[in-house]
Amino acid sequence: MSQDNAQPPVQSPVVPNLLGLDDIIQFDCHQGISCFNACCKQADITLAPYDILRLKHRLGMTSTEFLKQYTVPFEMDASGMPGVKLRTNDEEPVCLLMTDEGCSVYDDRPSACRYYPVGLMTMRPSDAPREEHHYCLVEEPHCKGHQEARKLSVAEYRKEQGVETYDDMNREWYQIILKRRSAGPAVGKPSPTSFQFFFLCSYDVDRFREFTHTESFRNTYALSNDEFSGFSDDATLLKFGYRLMMQVLFGEASIPLREGALEERIEKRREIYQARRKLEMELHRQKQDPYQNPGED
Ligand code: SF4
Repeated sequence: MSQDNAQPPVQSPVVPNLLGLDDIIQFDCHQGISCFNACCKQADITLAPYDILRLKHRLGMTSTEFLKQYTVPFEMDASGMPGVKLRTNDEEPVCLLMTDEGCSVYDDRPSACRYYPVGLMTMRPSDAPREEHHYCLVEEPHCKGHQEARKLSVAEYRKEQGVETYDDMNREWYQIILKRRSAGPAVGKPSPTSFQFFFLCSYDVDRFREFTHTESFRNTYALSNDEFSGFSDDATLLKFGYRLMMQVLFGEASIPLREGALEERIEKRREIYQARRKLEMELHRQKQDPYQNPGED
């Protein structure tokens, strides 16, 4: 099972023609089918932010614990954009959440598992005002679901699999990825700090919440008490994280700053820089002339 919502799957099992919502596919999956669980034994599942939110709730853990226990990091593109995949067994690509009876988190399974064997491709042609969604069919030899008689449209399949909520909750995140990709190498490689920030807002909602409680965050953004209290809800916080990324990474401001916050930050950074510079110069001076400080070894 291999899915990527932001670009077409690379390998050949994809049936090459693009599908629309009204196109008909022939597919079914159910307990008792000869290949039952085979796709979860070949799992290559990229996780989107809302997938993590659902899974960490289902497993009763924080996002930080979930990321540590159930995911592996990878680079989503040549610039090194951080992504996370579901962890599999060390020996084989078997999903850790699979049991003999099927998926142990079925009601909260990730979007890629829901879509399979339909592939979602989100792209934004240079002349289009917004991104476009296309679908394709992934036919892998291990999957016998394509031989089942049931026929239904892509729209019906999406509804049945409950992907709409997932798509709604992840939509702006895909836009951020596409925006970064369409910027290309012209704007240079993003800094490690911006990747850390992207990771925090995208995947680690509980640590992101801690960040919104810091003095520096509260002193920077002019948010009402109601808005701050809304952050106790993971989904609300996730959506706020998307806005914050658009603002910090692409300058698309939608979150008001406290008066003077920007100047204060610049001044603080200048002070830190000056203190660091002073310390470096002092250390350098001591290295050059150690006898100037007889009290030290
Ligand atoms: S999360 Fe569930 S459906 Fe997805 S690969 Fe794992 S066991 Fe299979």
